[in-house]
Amino acid sequence: MPETPRGFVCGHPIAHSRSPLIHGYWLRQHGLAGSYTAIDVEPGAFPAFLDRLRAGSHRGGNVTIPHKEAAFALADRKDAAAEAIGAVNTLWMEGDTLFGSNTDAYGFIANLDDRQPGWDARKGPVVVLGAGGAARAVLFALGERGFTDIRIVNRTLDRAKALADHFGGCFSAHGLDTAAELLRDATLLVNTTPAGMHGQAELPIDVDSLPDDALVTDIVYVPLQTPLLAAAAKRGLRTVDGLGMLLHQAVPGFERWFGVRPAVTPELRAMIEADIEAISS
Ligand code: NAP
Repeated sequence: MPETPRGFVCGHPIAHSRSPLIHGYWLRQHGLAGSYTAIDVEPGAFPAFLDRLRAGSHRGGNVTIPHKEAAFALADRKDAAAEAIGAVNTLWMEGDTLFGSNTDAYGFIANLDDRQPGWDARKGPVVVLGAGGAARAVLFALGERGFTDIRIVNRTLDRAKALADHFGGCFSAHGLDTAAELLRDATLLVNTTPAGMHGQAELPIDVDSLPDDALVTDIVYVPLQTPLLAAAAKRGLRTVDGLGMLLHQAVPGFERWFGVRPAVTPELRAMIEADIEAISS
């Protein structure tokens, strides 16, 4: 184990990752002598990269596209979130054991708790758009939080059905064409699809049928205010953007590697917002 704790984010490509900015901010804020760097690891090189981690190259790190499923397969032990989601985004060593977690579910819930405290006081029906990797984390999080009517709406119905089967009785699968009806009594609408991101098509979803007290959140954060959030705000609905999910999902890993539980501060958020605006303009 190196004397100065070292963390990483690995992926391919990796230059776009904002994780070094986030962890670098916390290292400076807490005056810690550690480092956190982005490492480009091609898919074929990932097992050897983990061998070096096992040999002590780093305390641990984050894993992003395309390595999350391989990290799940190669970690010795996984927590409940990783097991349910089937992907690992956070790794750390404990003795000779390589542990894996998925902190996206934590990040999703912590963001809502932070931005709309009490948002889950009434656990009514939830509509989740999308059935990909991010949807799995969101669905697991909502089930853990105690929601009992979670409607997965996806362009490809079979993928929604596969997720509903995987997660069990509180989850149902639907096609996009039924969304308006499903939204009528929903307390929460979550977009987990990339639609609405810069350069992507917008979602064919009309927020008009949502109840007046519904909350709308998007896990896309470039732009911060997606077309879906803009439409919801225009209608007077409460909204939460996806940036906080990115910030909060980083908290558990930092604590594992550097021994301090960091906070998602307004200053950190402003720093990442400025970075997003710089690349968006
Ligand atoms: P993914 O596995 O590729 O899944 C994408 C899902 O979106 C699929 O269900 C797909 O439907 C659906 N979809 C894609 N384009 C669509 C469109 N134009 N209209 C309707 N549905 C569409 O992707 P992912 O890994 O889940 O990531 C999704 C998004 O979440 C990305 O933008 C990612 O950046 C973001 N994300 C944010 C955070 C955060 O911290 N805020 C964390 C993780 C991911 P089909 O099944 O029909 O193809």
